[in-house]
Amino acid sequence: MKVLVCDPIHDEGLNILRKGGLEVDYVPQITREELLQVVDRYDAIIVRSRTKVDVEVLRRAVRLKVIGRAGVGVDNIDVEEAKKRGIKVLRTPEGPSVSVAELTVALMLCLARMVPYADRAMKDGKWVKRELMGVELRGKRLGIIGFGRIGYEVAKRAKAFEMEVLVYDVILDKLMDRVREVGARGLSFEELLLESDFVSIHVPLTPQTRHMIGEEELKAMKPTAYLINTSRGGVVDEEALLRALKEGWIAGAALDVYEVEPPTNMELIRLPNVVCTPHIGAQTVEAQRRNSVLIANKLLNALKHLS
Ligand code: NAD
Repeated sequence: MKVLVCDPIHDEGLNILRKGGLEVDYVPQITREELLQVVDRYDAIIVRSRTKVDVEVLRRAVRLKVIGRAGVGVDNIDVEEAKKRGIKVLRTPEGPSVSVAELTVALMLCLARMVPYADRAMKDGKWVKRELMGVELRGKRLGIIGFGRIGYEVAKRAKAFEMEVLVYDVILDKLMDRVREVGARGLSFEELLLESDFVSIHVPLTPQTRHMIGEEELKAMKPTAYLINTSRGGVVDEEALLRALKEGWIAGAALDVYEVEPPTNMELIRLPNVVCTPHIGAQTVEAQRRNSVLIANKLLNALKHLS
């Protein structure tokens, strides 16, 4: 069987595919035209987010049985069309959890101690020590919205900082063992917003979670509280967040994800009480290696069961 790898993945995954007996063509910079020309020769393809697998590609992919996405989001794959054609779509949502959790902690520390602001001032030759009165994480309440893979990893790390961890999830009842394991407290969405000093979001973007944090929720938070979003941009209403930060409903926010990427709402990005990163949650050597190993094993397994 032949597999085409269309985007850069770590060597370890490629080796697993080869050892598994697959013929691997690694063309990590393949253009759309090239893909359209050759896709009919392959039983499987692996992509990250760059390669678009749309109806036109799928129509030509007459041998294709499996699409492997080394990563989480499948916005670049027409999943419905693939399903209609009996093509399996595999992902590796478990790959980047620790990386995203570590970035969340980094952003929380940046907010608490104004590290990016201090760094910019130093580079401008300014000694702004008096402006930079921070807060400690110890003893603060961290409210985690969405207690899945990433929320759980964030909770464990917050405990190392001696924070009090509060958790809300739509399936909280089923997660109580894990909540207890990390020494957290489960409560309602409304209670979590009222009580938290830091609120960190870890839900997927769905019709139910779109703008889950809007004007009402931001007004319910403490004026000294910080919001961190490393999940998906649409979960937070950016217009409401802009007003919240300008008018002091909350103290600050850290964002890795945006409603439009790259973001067009530069007023929000430029606010002094906002810390921003360009969607780098999964952007670590370890997460990329894990994604490549996970997708290679899942793909081999799927092909074995199909043949
Ligand atoms: P997960 O599926 O393991 O956990 C999500 C949790 O959210 C689940 O426990 C689920 O019950 C809960 N949930 C769903 N809808 C909810 C609602 N309406 N209210 C409350 N809880 C709700 O997902 P994960 O792997 O932890 O990922 C979480 C988010 O992080 C996803 O949006 C994912 O896209 C994002 N992510 C971002 C990056 C990045 O680069 N910044 C990387 C990977 C994942």
